[in-house]
Amino acid sequence: MSKAKKWIPVLVAGAVAVTALSACGKSNDNQESGGSGGGGGGEKTIGVAIYKFDDTFMTGVRNAISDAANGKAKVDIVDSQNSQPTQNDKVDLFISKKYDAMAINAVDRTAAGVIIDKAKAANIPVVFLNREPLADDMKKWDKVYYVGAKAEQSGTMEGELLVDYWKAHPEADKNKDGVIQYVMLKGEPGHQDAELRTKFSIQAIEDAGLKVEKVAEDTAMWDRAKAQDKMATFLSAHGDKIEAVLANNDDMALGAIEALKAAGYFKDGKYIPVVGVDATAPALQALSDGTLLGTVLNDAKNQGAATFKLALALANGETPSKDNTGYDITDGKYVWIPYKKITKDNMDDAK
Ligand code: BGC
Ligand code: CA
Repeated sequence: MSKAKKWIPVLVAGAVAVTALSACGKSNDNQESGGSGGGGGGEKTIGVAIYKFDDTFMTGVRNAISDAANGKAKVDIVDSQNSQPTQNDKVDLFISKKYDAMAINAVDRTAAGVIIDKAKAANIPVVFLNREPLADDMKKWDKVYYVGAKAEQSGTMEGELLVDYWKAHPEADKNKDGVIQYVMLKGEPGHQDAELRTKFSIQAIEDAGLKVEKVAEDTAMWDRAKAQDKMATFLSAHGDKIEAVLANNDDMALGAIEALKAAGYFKDGKYIPVVGVDATAPALQALSDGTLLGTVLNDAKNQGAATFKLALALANGETPSKDNTGYDITDGKYVWIPYKKITKDNMDDAK
């Protein structure tokens, strides 16, 4: 908790530093841009900046964007290497190349305002994805959109997966105190999916009438190897006192499973429920192996396709709508792709 709070000022301070940096750097060649290829025919080009390529879920989204673009437009997809200054440079480059639209998976979502200012000055529409800009930033310009999923929905579903298991398996309450002793592996603090999945997963458990006790919580930054380390630390401090593991994504759930295996779990009848979010291919494998209890489909395919379709409509000078994208647009700016609970029983729905 206190750790998460400490991170937010750091992120904000980072965003301020980024603003200062980009204010004194290049990109003053906006005068004659006006979105370039505008009214004319010819293939449109969309600049896509991903927060980092080395992220399992975003790799799925990235592939979905290129699949959707195939034969319809050119997409220039770049790696921001988890650095906001690097991403700002990429945006400057897209602008100097006069691309027709941009799709941005912000490194730091509080830096979206700076990107919107630049895009607006160059009249190049932007679709943000996966890392939701603050509402005030979204209002800065009418050619700004967001494609994502409702973070609280994934948290609620994740909590419900654990509730179902707990109710069906009285032996899961190892110390028989009627309370779920759990550990939480958080994604990057400040990321809407990390904050809201953490909150709403626990809320769903409490809403189902179950009691919980947090044994430990720490961030593993969405990362499998980091989660394995954190889980090993939790196990050496609390051992069998832990009765459930909640992770904000599948990569961290899989890291936790590695640490649990090393501590003797998942053999000789020793089991602990582990839940995640995403339904990535390795997570589906873990579901069928019986190590991962459940996950929530974070629909990379539709998030990628919707991002591309909105960006293409904007590149063509159109206002995105259900007609020209196939997706419902909420509040004139948002496309929300639904989540879905996945267990061993309905795994095929996630393939
Ligand atoms: C996914 C994570 C991913 C993160 C990147 C989340 O929606 O669940 O797996 O690391 O997005 O921003
Ligand atoms: Ca207990």
